[in-house]
Amino acid sequence: MASVNKSILIIEDEPHIVMGLRDSLEFEGFKVLAGANGKEGIQLARTETPDAVILDLMLPDMNGYAVCEELRRLSPFVPIIMLTARSQETDKIRGLDAGADDYVTKPFSVNELIARMRAIFRRASRPSAAPEFVDIGNAKVSFSAHTLKVGRVEHALSFYEVELLRLLVERSGQPVSRDEILQKIWGLDATSTNRTVDNFIVKLRKKIEVQPDKPVHILTVYGFGYKLAGPDTEV
Ligand code: CA
Repeated sequence: MASVNKSILIIEDEPHIVMGLRDSLEFEGFKVLAGANGKEGIQLARTETPDAVILDLMLPDMNGYAVCEELRRLSPFVPIIMLTARSQETDKIRGLDAGADDYVTKPFSVNELIARMRAIFRRASRPSAAPEFVDIGNAKVSFSAHTLKVGRVEHALSFYEVELLRLLVERSGQPVSRDEILQKIWGLDATSTNRTVDNFIVKLRKKIEVQPDKPVHILTVYGFGYKLAGPDTEV
């Protein structure tokens, strides 16, 4: 099983949620670590370096956004999925700004969360047709080091930034649908209304494009998805 030895850290104070997630994730072959509050969670992230984190926004001791920022400082790359009981779009955006890669709104289906974990490790373990290094405009991307350099400025890339960029590079010059991106990278079905993909495109454009609001590399294909401009693409 691909998930063997992969560890997932759950930071959540509600025991029944931890128990349900733990059972299902262990059944899938993941090693599960659990912290019942923000401090414990951060400590486990520091000592155990988990392969993915499920982080509840509402914790007894710390603000979930602050926990998220600290996790990001410890590891720019680790996938962080935030659990939120709130339906307001602003909370989700704030979570994504704090460094979360994705969110699941409570009450959530355990199967949905498992599907996302599977998608993460399926992407991470599969061979890629993309080269290890690629130049996009002035940006130099290293997929193995998870970095993007523009001149002397080096950006650390998160797991989803790497995978989204890799998918676009593999299909350079061709449109990739939003549904395919959601399904392949986020493990979500096509009916999902998740705005995460668009948020990640914005993040990547800020790092790659000279004028992020007038992109010449990561192009929007209206009503369909996105494409990375190939060498012959007319803009
Ligand atoms: Ca909670």
